[in-house]
Amino acid sequence: MHSDTSQLLARRERVLSPSYRLFYEEPVHVVRAQGCWIEDVAGRRYLDAYNNVPVAGHCHPRIVAAMARQASLLNTHTRYLTEEPVLLAERLLATLPDALGKVILTNSGSEANDLAIRISRMATGARGVIVTDGAYHGTSDLLQGMSPVTGLPLGQHVYPIRMPEGQCGPEQFAALVGDAIARMESEGVRPAALLVDTIFGSDGAIADPPGFLAGGVDAVRKAGGLFIADEVQPGFGRTGAGMWGFARHGVVPDLISTGKPMGNGQPVAALVMRDEIARTFARNQRYFNTFGGSSVSCAAALATLDVIEDEGLIGNARRIGQRLMAGLGPMVAASPLLTDLRGAGLFIGVQTTSADVATAIVNALRGAGVLIGTAGRSNAALKIRPPLVIRAAQADLLLEAFAQALFEVRNINQ
Ligand code: PMP
Repeated sequence: MHSDTSQLLARRERVLSPSYRLFYEEPVHVVRAQGCWIEDVAGRRYLDAYNNVPVAGHCHPRIVAAMARQASLLNTHTRYLTEEPVLLAERLLATLPDALGKVILTNSGSEANDLAIRISRMATGARGVIVTDGAYHGTSDLLQGMSPVTGLPLGQHVYPIRMPEGQCGPEQFAALVGDAIARMESEGVRPAALLVDTIFGSDGAIADPPGFLAGGVDAVRKAGGLFIADEVQPGFGRTGAGMWGFARHGVVPDLISTGKPMGNGQPVAALVMRDEIARTFARNQRYFNTFGGSSVSCAAALATLDVIEDEGLIGNARRIGQRLMAGLGPMVAASPLLTDLRGAGLFIGVQTTSADVATAIVNALRGAGVLIGTAGRSNAALKIRPPLVIRAAQADLLLEAFAQALFEVRNINQ
């Protein structure tokens, strides 16, 4: 290992909390990035097929320029009248169904989800929240209790539903939500919200069949609850089927939380909701978030939206996603270590036989210069999520490295 790297590791251990975790048996010590490539301290390039934040590619020059321009002009909060947050809210709403009319800007997906739960409970006067049992929704105390994948205790009035690790049919999903409502009602709790990541990312990328969410959304609404779409992972074109993951399911959420890719790396996130829900919240509480909606964050988000549109990134996510699926299909069919292939656009999940197998493949790929991650309840799924600017040649490189990694780990104990 490069000596600077071991020194940096030691310094990191000395000063950063041990709760931080590095990826890979041999951590990657990176110093710069461009597009889908990320470069380490020794000048070795890796194809970044893990990072779902830089949708437009690392350090996109147009987004960098927009941020620099805004930083040198004005960077302030939402208590002064400034154009950027208004423009950003207008642009965001233009991508969403008419039913959604108001925006609160935050700095992270966690802040957006936390607020979504608070507002849903206020608007319904109910407490119960339904989540999937492989879900991750954020870092706050409230959201850790709604993120069963962390293994931490569930929060009060949180009702998890057990998703299958393969597909989830529409009747099956409606029945799971119906059971959760029955469970909470038997305990004297009414539903405030169904909160789901619409690509079920940490559940292992459960994307199909499109439309399976609808019955569950109906069920929660009939019982008086709201539907919160967590778009932190699928939002901004990742599924290749439009800007938002919920659209694949033919449903319109009451509230939507966004984050990660929204500023291509700059911290900016949002909660979008129906007008009357926003009015109910505003009647009861003011909201101020020092950095939420600050000028530079808005400039980054606006430029990211421009790039997604001007470079046709949603179409690219669909096309390259199909290319990757077509290449992975025969490998999954032929390998005894791989049991399922799923996903949408550039959010692809490959189920393996165990967490050890998944980890071995991830580390072998890292050795071959391709970065991916793991997901799923038992961490046995592989998660492939390259920036949406990935080209066909880079996808082919990923496929070649995948085949090589599979060969390297073929004798692992399952
Ligand atoms: N929701 C989902 C589905 C996520 O994947 C994450 C982050 N991994 C969050 C919410 C929380 O977002 P943040 O880390 O920006 O607070």
